[in-house]
Amino acid sequence: MPDKDRTSGYLRPELETMDPQARQDYLDGRVAATVAHAHERAPGFQARMEAMDAEPGDITSVADLAKLPVVEKAELINIQRENLPFGGLMAGQMEHIRRIYVSPGPIYEPAERTYADDRWAQALYAGGFRAGDIAQVTFNFNLVPFAFNLDESLNSLGCVSVPAGVGNTELQVQIMKDLGVAGYLGTPSFLSALADKAEALGMDLKKDLNLQVAFVAAEALPSSLRKELEERLGMLVRQSYGTAELNCLSYECMEMGGMHLAQDCVVQICDPETGQEVEPGQVGEVVATIFDHTYPLIRLGTGDLSSLTYDACACGRTAPKMTGWLGRVDQVTKVRGMFVHPSNVQQVAQKFPQVEAFQLVVTRENNQDVMTLVCELAEPGADREELRAGLENELKETLRVKGRVDFQDQGSLPEGCKVIDDQRTWD
Ligand SMILES: [Zn+2]
Repeated sequence: MPDKDRTSGYLRPELETMDPQARQDYLDGRVAATVAHAHERAPGFQARMEAMDAEPGDITSVADLAKLPVVEKAELINIQRENLPFGGLMAGQMEHIRRIYVSPGPIYEPAERTYADDRWAQALYAGGFRAGDIAQVTFNFNLVPFAFNLDESLNSLGCVSVPAGVGNTELQVQIMKDLGVAGYLGTPSFLSALADKAEALGMDLKKDLNLQVAFVAAEALPSSLRKELEERLGMLVRQSYGTAELNCLSYECMEMGGMHLAQDCVVQICDPETGQEVEPGQVGEVVATIFDHTYPLIRLGTGDLSSLTYDACACGRTAPKMTGWLGRVDQVTKVRGMFVHPSNVQQVAQKFPQVEAFQLVVTRENNQDVMTLVCELAEPGADREELRAGLENELKETLRVKGRVDFQDQGSLPEGCKVIDDQRTWD
């Protein structure tokens, strides 16, 4: 069987390679139509608009979305509890609903086959899945939507789904071998566990298995793990990002370097305090609006932090890229007006192997925030001045806030100390 071209082409070229200005116009139209539709058909959304004294005509573009508050997941749970089952947010009719999913919360989600599926299909195609592939879905099929949505998106691409679900590593490996499964969908750690199991069963990972592409999500994918999986199994591994309620929001192409925003949804990076969009490149909360006809969700906050990059991508897709998952909003600290997250501090420290332990201490001097990276060194005799300059520069680059570096003796920081120690008091 000839090898398939898995690294070029687009699922929806007219959208994926659209001129950015044309995309802006297109999304403005879709936002206006979605808000009008939700206002007409979803009484809960209508009530929310009325409480703000707003009408559909006030929200006719992506920029206008800033007039609507961000709805956090905890609020969505409350909205539903007050008006079960869907908080008045369903805009379709029950006879058109195919399933009701239940996400942790619980959050109830009415679903018919909609655009949502199509966004995961974009991700799958960009990750190298092609018609005729047999693909094994190892996400959980119990109540939650993700695995079902992937199953449907595979079908829409012409792929064959094996709904394997979680666990049963030995059976999973046998299925892969017996069926010649080409595509894996699951977490990176489970793929790693399957490879270990296959080896333990005496299989040759490249000869006995036919894996070509992996779609991974729901977990961080360190570049070292990606490289290991790709080399070990002789396959492409690409990741995507989304949530149970919003579905796919972004996905990697073959070039990587971030995840392209999916087409047919609006993803905004917003200040977690004000809900307003931050400047390009700055870190903020991922807030999304989806155009689902049955269950339109408008300005839903994910609680996840990320940033956007607008650099042109060699793959030809013109959508900006999310730079990756940078932590959770509830762990964030604001220093000199900038959001600083533990994972960003870790990023800085990890670039310097000489640093054995670290903690970012935030204090206040002369009514100004002061940020100090306290470091313990593996080799106390190392050249501290060069290291200090490097660390200070990296702090400024990554956190966008100037910080000091303070070297302390080994053992000064308590074992397992929190990454950010905010010592500021405000009385
Ligand atoms: Zn690309």
